[in-house]
Amino acid sequence: MSELVHETLEPVYEQVVGRNPGEVEFHQAVREVLDSVGRVIGKHPEYARAKIIERICEPERQITFRVSWMDDRGEVHINRGFRIEFNSALGPYKGGLRFHPSVYQGIVKFLGFEQVFKNALTGLPIGGGKGGSDFDPKGRSDREIMAFCQSFMTELYRHLGEYTDVPAGDTGVGSRELGYLFGQYKRITNRYESGVLTGKAEAFGGSHIRTEATGYGTAFFVKEMLAARGRSLEGKRVVVSGSGNVAIYAMEKARELGGVVVACSDSDGYILDEDGVDVELVQQIKEVERGRLSEYAQRRPSGKYVPGRQVWEVPCEVAMPSATQNEITGKEAALLVRNGCIAVGEGANMPTAPEGAQVFREAGIAFGPGKAVNAGGVATSALEMQQNASRDSWSRKFTERRLEQIMVGIHERCYATAEEYGVPGDYTTGANIAGFKKVADAMLALGLV
Ligand code: GLU
Repeated sequence: MSELVHETLEPVYEQVVGRNPGEVEFHQAVREVLDSVGRVIGKHPEYARAKIIERICEPERQITFRVSWMDDRGEVHINRGFRIEFNSALGPYKGGLRFHPSVYQGIVKFLGFEQVFKNALTGLPIGGGKGGSDFDPKGRSDREIMAFCQSFMTELYRHLGEYTDVPAGDTGVGSRELGYLFGQYKRITNRYESGVLTGKAEAFGGSHIRTEATGYGTAFFVKEMLAARGRSLEGKRVVVSGSGNVAIYAMEKARELGGVVVACSDSDGYILDEDGVDVELVQQIKEVERGRLSEYAQRRPSGKYVPGRQVWEVPCEVAMPSATQNEITGKEAALLVRNGCIAVGEGANMPTAPEGAQVFREAGIAFGPGKAVNAGGVATSALEMQQNASRDSWSRKFTERRLEQIMVGIHERCYATAEEYGVPGDYTTGANIAGFKKVADAMLALGLV
């Protein structure tokens, strides 16, 4: 980094840390973007003059609210709800809602920040935001989930709108929760505003492929990364972390594209199946029965359950971390490289910690960051908004083709930008710069707002 760039960016980072004390995930996400955009600001003094970088790091609006609800025994609970409306230069705030006990302001801010660049990379007109709650849906009855969602929306609705802010799902929020949230929004506002939420069930305005999109997109991106190196997914051993929505569909598409998926995990351990993971069985256990992954080994003779260990110890050529942030540190990354991994595509948001990313970079393997690799989810959300706005419904085949085209486009954008800025094959720098420039140019055009 040149002296001038260093002088411009270091104070920005320090200001972010000072203004957002203790929000370590957010600091980490900002650090990574600043490390990349140093290459741009030397060439574009107009960004520095307009303080674009400082402005991009500060959310446009931050909402925190109380969510009170009653459980099945009549006990009252109080959770905290969040929505960070980060940047609307390219379109309405867009990004998911996460319900998980680890959620606090810093997690939502990091996810919202990443979302700004991710959404820009899709090339579609969507700004960035994120929300959620520290509510833990695990073990809660259907009625309790509904009660929580209704209370959550009773506050959030006033901040939403199809031209303002359009949430979707994330960890702990799927089409069931989005249905309850939409039902409450509709009831309070007396408006059938389909485009106010995405990831809806197909029964009421949801798009085909939205459920599968993040996982499918992840596999499409990996396919492109391998193709750029003259390789393919055919016959490659694939390991996936997680067994939720992203993991399930990443496995399904990787298998369809010729990969041999041998392992996936949950928070208690992992399953290994040398005959190839039976994705439908994982889905049945996790999504239909809402059970634990360990049950897989009881139902499938070739399946083995390994409790309390990390899935990254399983040798593979392709890894798709699709669980949560910072699960691959330097240690896991080194293990993957040692065991012959050639490509990593992040299905989750920031699953690789900075030391892990450094190991991958030094080993020269293909490493696709979440904000590019998992953008298929939000891209298909934008396609859902498009269908809702035109009161239309596209076929499954057409929608999946659009998703694949978008993923190919994102890969090309990252790849070409990395080349242009002198770091060929560095998808992280390519994604950060391409996303940043798109948002920065829109912000410049909109004036000082
Ligand atoms: N939560 C997803 C993400 O991290 C999807 C967001 C959306 O569809 O708005 O990108």
